[in-house]
Amino acid sequence: MELTGKNIIGHELSAEGTDTFYAVNPSTSEEIKPGFRQASPAEVDSAVQKASAAFQEYRKKSGQEKAAFLEAIADEIVSLGDALIQRCMEETGLPEGRLTGERGRTVNQLKLFAQLLREGSWVDARIDTAQPDRTPLPRADIRSMLIPLGPVGVFGASNFPFAFSVAGGDTASALAAGCTVVVKGHPAHPGTSEMVARAIQRAVEQCHMPEGTFSMVNGPSVDVGLAIVRHPLIKAIGFTGSFKGGKALYDEAAKRSEPIPVYAEMGSSNPVFVLPRALKQQKETIAKDLAASVNLGTGQFCTNPGLVFMQSSEDADAFKSLLAQNIQNSGAGLMLTPGIRENYRQGIERLSHTRDVDVLAKGKEETNACYGTSYLLHTSVQSFLHDDTLQEEVFGPATLAVSAKHQDELLQAAHSLHGHLTVTVHGTEEDLQEHRELLTLLEQKAGRITLNGYPTGVEVCHAMVHGGPYPATTDSRTTSVGTAAINRFARPVCYQSFPFALLPDALKDGNPLNIWRLVNGNYQKE
Ligand code: NAP
Repeated sequence: MELTGKNIIGHELSAEGTDTFYAVNPSTSEEIKPGFRQASPAEVDSAVQKASAAFQEYRKKSGQEKAAFLEAIADEIVSLGDALIQRCMEETGLPEGRLTGERGRTVNQLKLFAQLLREGSWVDARIDTAQPDRTPLPRADIRSMLIPLGPVGVFGASNFPFAFSVAGGDTASALAAGCTVVVKGHPAHPGTSEMVARAIQRAVEQCHMPEGTFSMVNGPSVDVGLAIVRHPLIKAIGFTGSFKGGKALYDEAAKRSEPIPVYAEMGSSNPVFVLPRALKQQKETIAKDLAASVNLGTGQFCTNPGLVFMQSSEDADAFKSLLAQNIQNSGAGLMLTPGIRENYRQGIERLSHTRDVDVLAKGKEETNACYGTSYLLHTSVQSFLHDDTLQEEVFGPATLAVSAKHQDELLQAAHSLHGHLTVTVHGTEEDLQEHRELLTLLEQKAGRITLNGYPTGVEVCHAMVHGGPYPATTDSRTTSVGTAAINRFARPVCYQSFPFALLPDALKDGNPLNIWRLVNGNYQKE
């Protein structure tokens, strides 16, 4: 497919703006052709107007029709073949195996939402039948279900150019809910974004979805994204990216005359607790696997383990030495953009100049300006408790080991944690018994608790929670990965005393969609 560098506005390719930007190959620092045209305010408006008009038709599509549409998007992405992977490698520096895997995950995610729609029960149909003879007052017939919110603005992150980008989890879940979507393409991978956006555009036409069901506008300036958030016809935002970006968009949405929900999934430093018996019995394995998790994707994962807590002991000292050896032996990895590499450098500089923080180990260096070197730093719980900035995400292959003098200090450290996407605990059965209070506390700090594993892999499934209390996200009640992500883009509506003919199929007597419904307090399919 020849790239055009244009914005995708419904069925049109449009280039009315005057500013042009290029993708940059992180391994050579060279610009990659073609140039991409930043969307003008009129183009953003047109994309949102089309999304709003399309919503009135798209929201009425059946679950089967929307499922077929999501499957068509998946097929169109697969049919882009190797050209998509090659372009993405050039733009992101990510290796082929990783990108092929991520494309598979993205396609499977679309198909999983299709399955959810075909099954249909996600609409949470509730029926309380009328009780005309109830005393002292009769009860009306009351039924409720979820309906889509309206046009959604989606912002993807740089580090998952497929799975958290144009056709990623936010777009898939918003389209599944029945919302139309306007994506703000990430400027770090505009060619990849155009290829995927045009695949979605083809699926829209193939499945006879209304024009405007999907659009994508580009631009390296925050103006394009802000114009989406400020547009009065946009009804919700899905964002994946940095804390700074997510919070800025959240604040912007709150300032609107009609505030809208912003589901911002932001950074996290994903604390890991290694308990005493696990330290004694498995120090070699944990040190090796933890270093691998820190280095995965050159540390550019939102689930990267950036904090490791342990109680001081001889075993803990031996564990830190082993972890340091593993970090020292780590090769430098290519980072996604020169800007991300520079932020990482500054983050390490800040940490290493913080009082009571020592650099325990540094991995191999590379002269290329876009490579990131691995780091292991160390501090005490007392210093951690006195400096909130030590909890902030340093986006790259680094981790801060934090030593507690005793179990109580470990608990104090856990108490002081802000919200994170994940928390991990390594412990034997006895460890876990002895640290029950810690486990109970940690469930208040993160969206996912992993035992004896590593936080970096995030399964796309029905039970996954990829979210967590602020500042990991702006809404701790939600997830951006897994089928529950659909709930972010829907709201409940109650139909009281409706004649059966006017009720949506999901709520009709006889259950024509054959879905699970809560009828007079009992889940049933009858
Ligand atoms: P980013 O710099 O925040 O960018 C994300 C998107 O938001 C870009 O399109 C960016 O556009 C836009 N944006 C950022 N600030 C904005 C503002 N003030 N106003 C309007 N638009 C704004 O994030 P990134 O560097 O791509 O991604 C890395 C970060 O994402 C890391 O912190 C990582 O932990 C996090 N992440 C989180 C998850 C998760 O699921 N929680 C997953 C992956 C990554 P411009 O570039 O044009 O400004």
